Amino acid sequence: MKRRTFFSLSTMGTAGFLFAESRLKTTKYDQRGDIKVIATWNVPNAVDAALEQLNQSASALDAVESGCRVEESDTSNSSVGKGGLPDREGKVTLDACIMDASGNAGSVVFLEDIEHPISVARRVMEDSPHVILAGDGAQQFALEQGFEKTNLLTESSKAAWKKWLETANYKPIINIENHDTIGMLAIDNQGNISGGCTTSGLAYKKRGRVGDSPIIGSGLFIDNEVGGATATGMGEEILKSVGSFLIVELMRQGKHPQQACEEAVRRIAKKGGERIKDFQAGFVALRKDGETGGFAIHPGFNYTIGDEKGRTLLTSSSLF
Ligand code: ASP
Repeated sequence: MKRRTFFSLSTMGTAGFLFAESRLKTTKYDQRGDIKVIATWNVPNAVDAALEQLNQSASALDAVESGCRVEESDTSNSSVGKGGLPDREGKVTLDACIMDASGNAGSVVFLEDIEHPISVARRVMEDSPHVILAGDGAQQFALEQGFEKTNLLTESSKAAWKKWLETANYKPIINIENHDTIGMLAIDNQGNISGGCTTSGLAYKKRGRVGDSPIIGSGLFIDNEVGGATATGMGEEILKSVGSFLIVELMRQGKHPQQACEEAVRRIAKKGGERIKDFQAGFVALRKDGETGGFAIHPGFNYTIGDEKGRTLLTSSSLF
């Protein structure tokens, strides 16, 4: 008997073990062949890029990387990649993470001057023995991997920062932009699920601040037996509830992705008390059978879904 099996039997008893096994079987939501993408916010180009990959039989991992890269290069999106609003010192710092269907993960935090943190995160996952690289070390790794330095601060982001400096009044604002952190989940034609999450974080944050987006379990979590979830909104609050992991675990226990997202938002709201009127947090989830969910604290959150039939923008329901 393998050591691990022995522990299972001894801690749960034989009946418990058999129950756990049969429960696992009934919660395998495997329906091969139905590709699907879900992403936070109104990101048609990113979802189309991911769908294009999936339609050519690419992996879900390739699809989410391609989708996230589109937003990272879109300078009209001021909260992801190039064109992202800077910290208080006028520096754009990027966070991203990625997870594949085998449960591997890679992440970069506080990365400067590199346009595609999602791809650096993938290299961390695939070409380093680590899961997270930060700051100068992450940049050094990116340069060693062949990424090039780019100025991420666009003229319009610089102008917005200069204007902000006039009062330097830092307040978290609900739905800072109609684009925000992009979190993307995809299922490929093999039935495998992967996810990515990329952001420039909160505008005018303190230098060195890192939110939920690059933290496995908070900004993103994937379990290929169950599904995935990803977050957007006030990272400080999402971190404290490990919301994406929670959603995947709730789906494992049988909750529909919509119910699971609602429960994760409720937990954040409960901890947030009075403060929740001042911040937004939202999640999207994708179960292995293609069922989806999305929910936020406040109105204003939307998300994009794509599959073989096309692409749709959905308005999220919310707690308030
Ligand atoms: N979750 C991101 C962060 O806290 C920001 C956002 O989604 O608006 O860095």
